[in-house]
Amino acid sequence: MRIAITALKRLPFRSWSSVSTVRVLAVVGMGVALGMLALAGLVLLDARADAWRQAKEASLNLARALEQDIARNLLSFDLSLQGTAGALHLPGLDQATPQVRYMALFDRAATAEYLGSILVLDPDGAVVASSRTLGRAPINVADRDYFRIHRDQPDAGLFISRPYQSRLRSGDPSIAISRRLTGADGRFEGVIMGALRLAFFQDLFGKLNLGSEGLVALVRTDGVVVARLPGGERQPERDVGDTDTFRRMASGRDGQFVGHSPIDGVERLYTFRRVGDFPLLLTVGLSTADIHAAWWRKMERLGSILVLLCGATIALCLLFQREMLRRLAAESALTSAAERLAVMAATDSLTGLANRRQFDAVLAKEWRRAIRNGTSFSLLLVDADCFKAYNDLYGHQQGDEVLRRIAGCIRAALLRPADTGARYGGEEFAVLLPDTDMLGAWNIAERIRCALEARKMPHDGSPSGWVTASIGMATAQPQIGQEPAVLVEEADRALYEAKRGGRNRVCILGGTARKVA
Ligand code: GH3
Ligand code: MG
Ligand code: MG
Repeated sequence: MRIAITALKRLPFRSWSSVSTVRVLAVVGMGVALGMLALAGLVLLDARADAWRQAKEASLNLARALEQDIARNLLSFDLSLQGTAGALHLPGLDQATPQVRYMALFDRAATAEYLGSILVLDPDGAVVASSRTLGRAPINVADRDYFRIHRDQPDAGLFISRPYQSRLRSGDPSIAISRRLTGADGRFEGVIMGALRLAFFQDLFGKLNLGSEGLVALVRTDGVVVARLPGGERQPERDVGDTDTFRRMASGRDGQFVGHSPIDGVERLYTFRRVGDFPLLLTVGLSTADIHAAWWRKMERLGSILVLLCGATIALCLLFQREMLRRLAAESALTSAAERLAVMAATDSLTGLANRRQFDAVLAKEWRRAIRNGTSFSLLLVDADCFKAYNDLYGHQQGDEVLRRIAGCIRAALLRPADTGARYGGEEFAVLLPDTDMLGAWNIAERIRCALEARKMPHDGSPSGWVTASIGMATAQPQIGQEPAVLVEEADRALYEAKRGGRNRVCILGGTARKVA
């Protein structure tokens, strides 16, 4: 990996753009995966909100239906009580036989499975008439809350008692619905009450499916629990009046809120409604855990699959990026190796100039270009003077150093990119000067010769005493069908002339071999 990164740092600009493309693609891929995950998250959150909305609506509907059912039953029971209370003032009732009296009092009284006795109590709490017996019942209920409240509070109106165990044969848990009997002068004349078995509510509530921790309760407006499922029958006397949850319910006629049950501590969505105009509140509570349970199951299944898919996509993106970067690095390493090889294949190792093969290639190419463009083309052949003697005097290695310096002089003299200096062979160099006329070529040749001379490298085997070079020069206007070899031959002959003329000079055929001092 480190090799790949090192190679990547050396990548040329175009490859760098490929690297950034790979990175952008990988990031886009990961972004798409994360985007899908976020989208799925939003859909799941929406499903959660839907489940909550549905639960709220279902509880509202249920609370409304239950409240109306209970209110209707209580109302018809209250009407029965009022009917009996009205009948108490029928003239001659005191003198009537027990049967007539019973019929007068209780004929219109409602009878149903859950309704217990209707009792008429005198101001001392003694039962003076009962819907279950013909005469007086030997029972006194002066201790009951429904008796005391009417005795002590003339304006108590319709009263719903605390749950109690009936003292009649059945002994069923019941509540009493009672009204005060008031004389014409406002005097307390007793109480009329009807018993309603709590089984009515328990059976009504028991038909509901409210989830594992749902509850439905009927609570008096002072907080006394009348009926509750689950657990109502076992603890009918519970009082939740001083709890926060109840206070929130008691503050309005109906509403919905999330709170913790004061009885079992479970968090629930509470929906409450006042039961008609009775001092009762009906509460339906759905556990928040139940509401979200199905959503959680879906979330766990879908969520884990989505997270897995997203993770796999991101991992694939990272793998793709790593693989592509590795390939790019390998490609770039191969490219630069090939480039290095190409440079090596075209370069003379001793001097760093173009080698003979490269010279031939450039000559052929530039020759054709000159034919096409109709431009002149010049060639210099540069040959070190008395170099054999130099080698003999100073050694071959020193001779190599001189060759490198001659190459340096050639390189320094070439200013145009198309000009090419090459090692032609041994101590002989060639300079290709495309689009250069005779005068221009002459100037360059002189620049090379003078630069070498100016270096003043001692050469005891040379007549001048210094290392010098002779230069043969040829210039042509290449024509179609003409081969470049013509130019080389001409330059070679000019070089020969320069040697013959005394060396350290530039010579052109037909021109004057000159040494510019
Ligand atoms: P002239 O002035 O006529 O050119 O005489 P010259 O001695 O330079 O010519 P000649 O052709 O007789 O000798 C060329 C010498 O160049 C022979 C060879 O030892 C030497 N030479 C050729 N290639 C190299 C090289 O790569 N390194 C060194 N040190 N010497 C070389
Ligand atoms: Mg020579
Ligand atoms: Mg030679």
